[in-house]
Amino acid sequence: MNEVLKVGLIGLGTVGQGVVRVLATNAEEIAQRAGRRIVVTDASVRDASRARDCDLSGIRLHADPFAVVNADVDVIVELIGGISPAQELIAAAIARGKPVVTANKALIAERGNEILAAARAQGVLLAFEAAVAGGIPIIKVLREGLTANHIDSLAGIINGTCNYILTQMTAKGQSFAAALADAQKLGYAEADPTFDVEGIDAAHKLAILASIAFGMPLQFAAVATEGLSKVQAQDIQLARELGYRIKSLGIAKRSARGVELRVHPTLVPEDHLLAKTDGALNAIRVHGNAVGQTVYVGRGAGGEPTASAVIADLIDVARLVGADARHFVPALGFGADTLRALPTLAFADIESAYYLRLQVADEPGVLRAITSILAELDISVEAILQKEPRDDEDATLAIISSEIPEHRCDLALAKLRELPFVRPDVSRLRVEHFA
Ligand code: NAP
Repeated sequence: MNEVLKVGLIGLGTVGQGVVRVLATNAEEIAQRAGRRIVVTDASVRDASRARDCDLSGIRLHADPFAVVNADVDVIVELIGGISPAQELIAAAIARGKPVVTANKALIAERGNEILAAARAQGVLLAFEAAVAGGIPIIKVLREGLTANHIDSLAGIINGTCNYILTQMTAKGQSFAAALADAQKLGYAEADPTFDVEGIDAAHKLAILASIAFGMPLQFAAVATEGLSKVQAQDIQLARELGYRIKSLGIAKRSARGVELRVHPTLVPEDHLLAKTDGALNAIRVHGNAVGQTVYVGRGAGGEPTASAVIADLIDVARLVGADARHFVPALGFGADTLRALPTLAFADIESAYYLRLQVADEPGVLRAITSILAELDISVEAILQKEPRDDEDATLAIISSEIPEHRCDLALAKLRELPFVRPDVSRLRVEHFA
């Protein structure tokens, strides 16, 4: 096989080095699948003195990433992350008619509409499988495998850091702060964990998935997020006793009222596959009207798993060399002229079941007063757990509500807080039954 796809690789960090390693390890099979050899000829890094865990012989290293775009390469792989200069580099590659592969979820979620428009205008392929769920080929699933379906919802564990923290809290009874500190020590969480634990990273990925699932432009700003820090160790324990696990989920649903795009800690029934997805793994459930429920589980980060997705895109590029752009699978699964911005719902507008935890004084009539407030607001109690106080502590009540509009749950909480025997520390989490 003499033909070669020459790759210009911008960024040789965790993923970039993984790409170089996997391309070397699986070179022969990749060539058989792609119809040509895929070879990194040019690359750029910021710090040339840093040791890299991959064989860089035969690769020209550039200090300036734009030199890679301008080099004699057939495709650009952007693996530096962030908005700038990644966006300018991708724009330069597109302007030169070079296909682009990227793992950059922040860039695709926040600037994807304009970048994809530029790629379409130039007839250039832009692929981003690695941007969501690392090694799980979820973009191909939505864009190609499930194209026959009307997809009404998807929900996923799409941030490994959050899943690792929640798994530790569940297994060891740790607090959020202690589990986060452990995750940082082990390299599962950044020194500044805000992006992960506040749900922003998952929101980027959810915006991409929802767009492909529902045929709408990228609407990152419409994703409602709630971070992990509000989950307390006792919520995890009470949820377990009620038959649930707490997972941080990205959820996208559509109905006649609009599209819900939300990321938040969620109680999931313990027998669901998502509840059993532990550690740094990712899992995504997709529901389509023809196929029903499908679930995809795997490693959502790391050099090799993410390289698996990057190289799958490179193989698509290799297979499409010389093809007319009309033969490309549309980047967002739907023809660009058919994408429709759909109305999105804020948290206050969604409907969900809720988990409520109340600390209450151990007095007679407390339970009756609480349940009558819920009944007045037409909120049914699906399950209730009462923990008797030890010594002179307060009692704890954990309640799972029926499915209700969130604004009604807010009203119930406001009324419950007014009761003299209810302590201010009230916890409210959403519950997903995947019905
Ligand atoms: P990383 O380890 O931080 O590596 C980034 C690389 O880009 C480094 O080689 C760095 O050079 C280079 N770089 C950074 N800023 C640059 C700049 N301004 N100009 C030139 N080079 C620059 O990042 P990563 O974890 O590999 O992630 C890369 C992309 O993949 C990101 O978009 C990320 O969101 C995405 N992603 C990562 C994972 C994962 O598991 N890590 C999974 C899915 C998607 P130096 O090495 O010289 O500093």
